[in-house]
Amino acid sequence: MINVTKAFLPPIAEYQAQVQRAWNNVWLTNRGELVLELEEKLKNYLSISNIITTNNGTIPLQIAMKLFGNGGEIITTPFSYVATTAAIVWENCTPVFVDIHPDYLTIDETKIEAAITSKTTAILATHVFGNPCHVEAIEAIAQKHKLKVIYDAAHCFGVTYNNQSIFDFGDMSTCSFHATKLFHTAEGGAMFCNDEKWFKQLYYSHNFGHKTALDFHGLGINGKISELQAAMGLAVLPYMETILGERKKVVDYYNSNIDFSKLKGLKIRENTQWNNSYYPIIFETEAELLLIEQKLNELQIFPRRYFCPSLNTIEYTNGKPMPVSESIASRILCLPLYVGLTTPELDTIISTINTNL
Ligand SMILES: *Cc1c(COP(=O)(O)O)cnc(C)c1O
Repeated sequence: MINVTKAFLPPIAEYQAQVQRAWNNVWLTNRGELVLELEEKLKNYLSISNIITTNNGTIPLQIAMKLFGNGGEIITTPFSYVATTAAIVWENCTPVFVDIHPDYLTIDETKIEAAITSKTTAILATHVFGNPCHVEAIEAIAQKHKLKVIYDAAHCFGVTYNNQSIFDFGDMSTCSFHATKLFHTAEGGAMFCNDEKWFKQLYYSHNFGHKTALDFHGLGINGKISELQAAMGLAVLPYMETILGERKKVVDYYNSNIDFSKLKGLKIRENTQWNNSYYPIIFETEAELLLIEQKLNELQIFPRRYFCPSLNTIEYTNGKPMPVSESIASRILCLPLYVGLTTPELDTIISTINTNL
């Protein structure tokens, strides 16, 4: 069986050696030695100055909505994983969707201003598939209207834009370290913020607001990552070059062998060093997508319809129609992409697409 992705597993002895450290310390969570070491190594690897690792990639979105949303309207993208919208609604804010760019698939910055009202407090946009939003335009709009900008950068591990980590943009960014993501800790995530004051607030928020054992800095929740998760991260991190390199080989192979006469691929924004995190193909019709999906499923190959449905159509969002996002969502399929996919497997996937379209 070939799934859309497969978690990268380091040699188990290397994971066990990390876990052994937690045993030796008899220390399983509350920002122990492994978490602190992982954060230092990630800062170094990503060339960033601040990070707070968390227990998943959704809690940072919730914390962001709690701190920056203020129960207001949040301008957001309809084309993302459901967590982006769910975090907004879960924290009692209102998602206001803005349609996406048909090639980049990120929020269409030219349509943002028309959606701003007196109740708008923030913009939550996704660098979807690791493809950066138009960060300059969004920053200008946010400054003009005094809005906070939060980027859901769940797909963005290792992505740089203009030679700078994509996590450096906006008032804060979030990432997911879920098992299916590029770099992972089984479950996990992170938040990034370069403003010292907000960084502290984010930090307190992810640990119940604790300043000291008896003293609190306002309201907080439990967003802490454990030592066991950090152990996985420390065991996976040395393999990032392998992970990125092997994925690039798969992407290059798809690029040069898929017949694109009836398909479109993802357009990566200029000046981006991309991470090959997903391989979406966009069909001309949903019927063609369903046909290819069925042919692949018959061969025990399971691509995924990332991202479908368009989030404005989910019943709890009351979203207005988003023609571009709804159209793309109905026609986009992410092909298997992970370390260890073999050339014969890739050839099967590619010929199934090329011969049935
Ligand atoms: C994976 C993902 C999340 C959620 O991350 P978890 O670690 O699964 O909580 C949020 N946003 C996007 C775009 C994602 O793909």
